[in-house]
Amino acid sequence: MAQQEKIFVAGHRGMVGSAIVRRLQQGGYAHILTQTRQELDLLDQRAVQQYIAQEKPDYLFIAAAKVGGIQANNVFRADFLYQNLVIETNLIHAAHLAGVQRLMFLGSSCIYPKLAPQPLKETCLLTGELEPTNEPYAIAKIAGIKLCEAYNHQYGRQYISVMPTNLYGPNDNYDLQTSHVLPALIRKAHEAKVRGDDTLVVWGSGTPMREFLYADDLADACVHLMEQGYDGPLVNIGTGSDVSIRELAETVKEVVGFQGTLSFDASKPDGTPRKLMDVSRLHALGWQARTGLKAGIERAYSDFLMRTHA
Ligand code: GDP
Repeated sequence: MAQQEKIFVAGHRGMVGSAIVRRLQQGGYAHILTQTRQELDLLDQRAVQQYIAQEKPDYLFIAAAKVGGIQANNVFRADFLYQNLVIETNLIHAAHLAGVQRLMFLGSSCIYPKLAPQPLKETCLLTGELEPTNEPYAIAKIAGIKLCEAYNHQYGRQYISVMPTNLYGPNDNYDLQTSHVLPALIRKAHEAKVRGDDTLVVWGSGTPMREFLYADDLADACVHLMEQGYDGPLVNIGTGSDVSIRELAETVKEVVGFQGTLSFDASKPDGTPRKLMDVSRLHALGWQARTGLKAGIERAYSDFLMRTHA
């Protein structure tokens, strides 16, 4: 990627897209294109094709997606499947029609089978049943990976796919009904501290294991791969280590300064028991995560405080 080339970041208002834009700006990239939802509705095939044909970006990052935590994925199953399929097919096909040669598609670790051997290798894709709570989202993301592979195969494009683990960081979603676990726990711990509550309610049993990557680390990995001109098969992006939800809740408690105890709500789903990424492919490509979990939670908590007191 040269600094004067045009780079379109789809989804720049979200946690991942905004982190990619920050990272590109820090890297001196001068020609970054972004579109708000009002300016360009990514569900509108004709509008997407017109925009990309007109701008002809040199690079496209697809960070736009309908995302959410375990409950949102499980309840809004049609929206997650439909919107993600449409957004990715609109963007990938429009990029191809406009002659965009390089594109990065962002997926998620939930594409891998529920009971695949841990840590999850890229090669375990499509070797077993998916986790039911996020199957619609996973199916849409698998279709996106296959679409990129098909354009590469049929038309010689260089459309790569990366699979981030669970992410957190600035611009996260703190809505308790739709968010992921980490922002939910930050908010719940903060509110419990402010109210002086005795307990903090954690969904499920606390035993599932999850890996967490700070959004700016993810953005750095994405830009690293594009700068290298990587055009091989999909790559996992993670830290390589995980914690139980109970341990995570303890760390959040400590960072936020909530003194009470944890209680576990068994009426909420646990989801997949574990989804630790195998990051050896990423390490071999010269990139490793930098932000430790506690330091990342401290930064995320500052961001939460800034937003809630703005
Ligand atoms: P997942 O990684 O796709 O399962 O998505 P989440 O980040 O939403 O949930 C991860 C795990 O954290 C699951 O086992 C949840 O039950 C658990 N969890 C505990 N408390 C919460 C909470 O307040 N919100 C969410 N979303 N998950 C929670």
